[in-house]
Amino acid sequence: MKSKTYDVAVIGAGVFGAWTALHLARRGKSVILLEAYGPGHSRSSSGDESRIIRMGYAKDEIYTRWAQRSLIQWKELFAGTRNEALFQQTGVLWLAGADETRLNETRATLRRCSVPFEDLDLAALREKYPQIGLDGIRSGILELESGVLMARRAVAATVEEAVRLGVAFQYALAETPRGKGKLRSVKTKSGEEISAEQFVFACGAWLAKMFPEIIAKRLFVTRQEVFYFGLPAGDSRFAPPALPTFLFQSDESYGMPDIESRGLKIALDAHGVAVDPDTQSRVVSERSAQEMREYVRRRFPALKDAPISETRVCQYENTSSGDFLIDRHPEVENVWFAGGGSGHGFKHGPALGEYVTSQLLGEAPAEPRFSLATKATVQRRAVF
Ligand SMILES: Cc1cc2nc3c(=O)[nH]c(=O)nc-3n(C[C@H](O)[C@H](O)[C@H](O)COP(=O)(O)OP(=O)(O)OC[C@H]3O[C@@H](n4cnc5c(N)ncnc54)[C@H](O)[C@@H]3O)c2cc1C
Repeated sequence: MKSKTYDVAVIGAGVFGAWTALHLARRGKSVILLEAYGPGHSRSSSGDESRIIRMGYAKDEIYTRWAQRSLIQWKELFAGTRNEALFQQTGVLWLAGADETRLNETRATLRRCSVPFEDLDLAALREKYPQIGLDGIRSGILELESGVLMARRAVAATVEEAVRLGVAFQYALAETPRGKGKLRSVKTKSGEEISAEQFVFACGAWLAKMFPEIIAKRLFVTRQEVFYFGLPAGDSRFAPPALPTFLFQSDESYGMPDIESRGLKIALDAHGVAVDPDTQSRVVSERSAQEMREYVRRRFPALKDAPISETRVCQYENTSSGDFLIDRHPEVENVWFAGGGSGHGFKHGPALGEYVTSQLLGEAPAEPRFSLATKATVQRRAVF
């Protein structure tokens, strides 16, 4: 019996693959979504409990606009279902340090894009957030409508909706396709052939391993450690609305208030060491735990004795600049890459899926910033 040929096979059900499959299904395409371990599994980049959705991107208006489009779509996906709480509107507070260049660029872009925000000087910050250690901070921006997506469950909800619309979801490890020209099928580890007209590899950090010759030197996979701090009993100063989600630009740190009673979440956005997503240890080191304790003591003095209640170790899959990689395979015309989330991709899942769909259907011009050609082999981060 001849097996089915899908319009599109999407490989990887992280946030990028899930939204790509969903948008393709909404356009009436027959889609199969292959995933090795499970949507938003704990070793994927989409796999933590929560991810920030913020509009501020300094002068990179393209990402501000994508985040705006995406927030609308996330809310639509969750609306009226048991998933409504998968977006939490905590507000997002930007704090810079001595250098306010990027903060001022963010102010200008948010105004241009009509994103509602409050401008806070130091006196206003002190009054509103007495629980934050503000040394070195001169001013801040509070994005009022932004917040937090409950990440792994949001991916599961996206896949659920895609399946409801007819997407075939299958647990399978796809093997690297060989040859040039046009790909007819991908082989899975169990020996099955999956045929499709087009293929989208949305494999996160694994893209580098799937396509070593093309991508390995252009994707910088780094270890990122995340900490949750247990809060003093009966203390609501670290829960929304008292504390919003926060980003300290000059410290390269970010975090969020007490959501679902998990405590204060905090992490460094600075890139960690290079790792392999299959083999890296998922246990934080005592040294980084100690460094984070000291940092928390400085920025949240009332938590100086707070215990670390939970940790996560994940990976960023950075491109040289931080711009996404969404492009066609240079030698196989019907194979596409969708990755390079670079530590900020989660929120953009809906807009990214929409963009990939427009590329596959030949409906929109390609954005040069996402091209493979712009992905260098030396890192020079430009998107934050
Ligand atoms: C610690 C941390 C904090 C972050 N914070 C934020 C934030 O606050 N806001 C934000 O917007 N973004 C944030 N990001 C970035 C964001 O999470 C990622 O950019 C995004 O999740 C990438 O999604 P993805 O689908 O490309 O990759 P992944 O989520 O890794 O998904 C790829 C999937 O492909 C599957 N796969 C790979 N190879 C194969 C194969 N051969 N066959 C079948 N399946 C395969 C994998 O199993 C995996 O499930 C953060 C990332 C990290 C690590």
